[in-house]
Amino acid sequence: MRIGALALQGDFREHLAVVRKLGAEGVEVRTPEELADLDALIIPGGESTTIGRLATIYGLIDPLRERIVAGLPVLGTCAGMIFLAAATKRYEQPQLEVLDVVVERNAFGRQVDSFEADLAVAGLADPVHAVFIRAPWIHKVGSDVDVLAAVTDPGTGEEHPVFVRQGRILATSFHPELTEDTRIHELLMEVS
Ligand code: GLN
Repeated sequence: MRIGALALQGDFREHLAVVRKLGAEGVEVRTPEELADLDALIIPGGESTTIGRLATIYGLIDPLRERIVAGLPVLGTCAGMIFLAAATKRYEQPQLEVLDVVVERNAFGRQVDSFEADLAVAGLADPVHAVFIRAPWIHKVGSDVDVLAAVTDPGTGEEHPVFVRQGRILATSFHPELTEDTRIHELLMEVS
């Protein structure tokens, strides 16, 4: 299996290390040509405005959108989730608009840059130890989107999705590439 990681900015190397550990070929993707022959794609965490700006400059927005709409399995983590989403609450920025959710960037507040939590995930027997770094949460989900994990806002008591699936599109607010747990990447390989 050949798995690409969008290698414009962010922690694509960590993702590629995980997929290689799982026995797949891991390739860095920076051009439309490098999207060919992939069985799955990962869009890493980093800074979503930078990823969006570089993807525009590299002519990747339409090719990425077309491949994903045509069924290429994809995992977006953190900034990757934001880049996949239909829209962003409060900000205007380039997005692929293939995942029917509205995301709220830096949703946990600027003070809480980073934290870790054990998350119950639908379909997984044991919780996932999730690392959140200036993370988004999902503000609104479309009807075709399954929520696989959510967190509760202690302020309002509202639930906010942090792991969703829409067909072959998986997206997490957290960083599964930063722990030893490979189950989220295995899920991507299973939908491929
Ligand atoms: N805060 C970043 C953004 O809005 C995402 C952070 C991350 O990917 N760890 O793009």
